Amino acid sequence: MNIKELDSKYIAGTYSRFDVTFTHGHGSTLYDENEKEYIDLGGGIAVTTFGISDDVWKNDVISQLEKLQHVSNLYYTQPQVKLAELLCQKTGMKKVFFSNSGAEANECAIKAARKYSNDKHGKGRSTIITLKNSFHGRTITTLSATGQDVFHKDFGPFTEGFIYAEPNNISDMERLISENSCCAIMIELIQGEGGVYVLDKEYVSQLANIATEKDLLLIVDEVQTGNGRTGELYCYMNYNITPDIVSTAKGLAGGLPMGATLLGEKLKDTLGPSSHGSTFGGNPVCAAGAISVLTRIDDPLLAGVREKSKYIFDELEGTPGIKSISGLGLMIGIETEKPAKDVVTACIKKGVVTLTAKDKVRLLPALNIPFEQLKKAIQILKEEISA
Ligand SMILES: *Cc1c(COP(=O)(O)O)cnc(C)c1O
Repeated sequence: MNIKELDSKYIAGTYSRFDVTFTHGHGSTLYDENEKEYIDLGGGIAVTTFGISDDVWKNDVISQLEKLQHVSNLYYTQPQVKLAELLCQKTGMKKVFFSNSGAEANECAIKAARKYSNDKHGKGRSTIITLKNSFHGRTITTLSATGQDVFHKDFGPFTEGFIYAEPNNISDMERLISENSCCAIMIELIQGEGGVYVLDKEYVSQLANIATEKDLLLIVDEVQTGNGRTGELYCYMNYNITPDIVSTAKGLAGGLPMGATLLGEKLKDTLGPSSHGSTFGGNPVCAAGAISVLTRIDDPLLAGVREKSKYIFDELEGTPGIKSISGLGLMIGIETEKPAKDVVTACIKKGVVTLTAKDKVRLLPALNIPFEQLKKAIQILKEEISA
């Protein structure tokens, strides 16, 4: 049996895959089993921050792997502590909890927010407001937090205490706050899975002010927007706000599973012994990958992200077949006249890997994609969009 047949025989059918089997790669180049070459504009959905098997990253991970791959969180390890220090120094947040995925990073954010409110204001103030069209993960609780009805079929009953506000509508947010007993507001600054919708600066700043006024914690889900993706280390840095909690994952460890929940001043003492935990969280190998990634997201790299972003926007602007372009940095959504899925399928045939997000074509390339490869891939993308 070939890979495709074995996959459908043995793997739970949760993914509708494109008809390609990738076997290896380097940087922003991927190869399939027939040695056909592809330029990667998908970055494994914002995961491979420095591309496939990047030399620096690979060596940093391998040298940790040769020393120690795991001890339990009953003991100290150097990479985990070093990574937490790095995250706090670069963001001004105070404490970090490590996990293994975006959903888990959000679970921790939700637990921390509820406990903070419980400790300070007593029981009952447990509702969390999220936004319609959001995506926060696939666990039962993060599905509850996800403000899209399509995700709320088949798997109930769900965790209680989530309500959904209209994005970019401050009066809807104010109404929900006044009608409910809330502890937190949880947002993606750019709704990634929802179709690359960018929240307005004015809305976010009003929302942050209301949150501070009412002691509602502001949770920013940076699972996709984090780690240099938008041209700043974290997307909230584009908005001039100070979140109480930041969750991140995807690109943090450059392709190894790692989630992190960053806790601000108000929450630095909220999570005490046995209040939360994770067997693999902060694993030394993943932590070494994340240290490697974070130390390389410096000002010149971020300037490069913004420059490549501008190039993509300028190139795509006015292309026949494009209705609109949205996003920030190297997180870009393209609304096409053709169905997005058809464009993505056609691009794969031509050796360019892209993604969809709802009805849009989505680009999330490695932050260090060479300009030459980017140019070549964008030309092919343009041809397929207007063909
Ligand atoms: C991908 C994503 C998640 C879920 O991350 P997993 O690692 O798949 O659990 C949560 N929030 C946002 C904004 C995401 O993009």
